[in-house]
Amino acid sequence: MFDPLTLARDNIRDLRPYSSARHEFDGAADVFLDANENAFGSPVDIALNRYPDPLSSTLKNRLAEINGVNSDQIFVGNGSDEAIDLLLRIFCEPRKDRVMTFPPTYGMYKVFADINAVGVDEVCLTTEFALDLEEICRQYTSSTKVMFICSPNNPTGNSLAVDDVLEVVERFGSIVVVDEAYIHFSERGSLKNEIDRFPNLVVLQTFSKAWGLAGARVGLALADSRIIDLMNRVKPPYNVNEISQRLALDALVNTGTIDSWVEEIKDQRSDLGRSLGKFGFVKTVFPSDANFLLVKVDDADAIYKFLLKQGIVVRNRNGVERCEGCLRVTVGTPNENSKLLKALSHYRASMPRSEETRQI
Ligand SMILES: *Cc1c(COP(=O)(O)O)cnc(C)c1O
Repeated sequence: MFDPLTLARDNIRDLRPYSSARHEFDGAADVFLDANENAFGSPVDIALNRYPDPLSSTLKNRLAEINGVNSDQIFVGNGSDEAIDLLLRIFCEPRKDRVMTFPPTYGMYKVFADINAVGVDEVCLTTEFALDLEEICRQYTSSTKVMFICSPNNPTGNSLAVDDVLEVVERFGSIVVVDEAYIHFSERGSLKNEIDRFPNLVVLQTFSKAWGLAGARVGLALADSRIIDLMNRVKPPYNVNEISQRLALDALVNTGTIDSWVEEIKDQRSDLGRSLGKFGFVKTVFPSDANFLLVKVDDADAIYKFLLKQGIVVRNRNGVERCEGCLRVTVGTPNENSKLLKALSHYRASMPRSEETRQI
């Protein structure tokens, strides 16, 4: 039987974690003189003079109910980026172990690996942006400790086939992280309820995208309780601040608002995709399961610069392998999207005649 502990670095397995005051005593009492806080209060409107719950327990209990998992199968972090970094540090011995990523994909997997001096094996997605199972097999070694699969994938926007993802989870003995930052915009279901079946599967979600709390920095990992326990031992004691814990909890009450925004974003996504596709300089609008569109254009750098001059910022992915000539455009409000379209028609008007005549 797979035991995540056997994969962890020796020093992490043997770690005696820091035990914070609020960790050692989290019961009810009248007088708290254990954490050197300012007992008089905070000089601001909200009372923040006490340390937050180190384990975000109230938030986790609510998330457990909503997601149909146990609260010991949830890690709450300072954004899901914290979870990515922790997983690398828990499972990968610097300069020895390796991780595998599937570009074009989210850049932070490699950045965190580089920071931790962990080698990265990059197995490109196929030209259809699917996992290349044969090549994964070829490049996988016993040093491969963590694989990062992003689905729906950033920046391509597509979801990866569930069968392919689960095949990777089943076939290899490494931790497989499935980053579901954009899952709310996808018709495909989350893999979060597969964590009981697969003790090497870690599902990442975040409050930063659909939930509209990017500024609060709250992300979560759902996984086997032994992996979650390792993450809790390695994380900084008070990794999620009091305000963010409360805001995330409040947000979970407003599911109706999020659901209707998600529906509107999906509608806007199809409208925007259709309109973009009509420009002659747009070669491809890739299908998207996320809140952005990857768009292949004639001259990505020129359009990117032109839009900047109009005060519109998109993400230039030209120069990223398999995304040559592509811009990544977040779906905005109807007003923002029409500003983008208007700016693009100005761009078209500014183009040389030969290009212009290619228009409808
Ligand atoms: C935006 C994004 C995240 C979010 O990270 P946070 O730290 O939770 O804000 C994670 N993964 C991917 C692929 C993303 O695009």
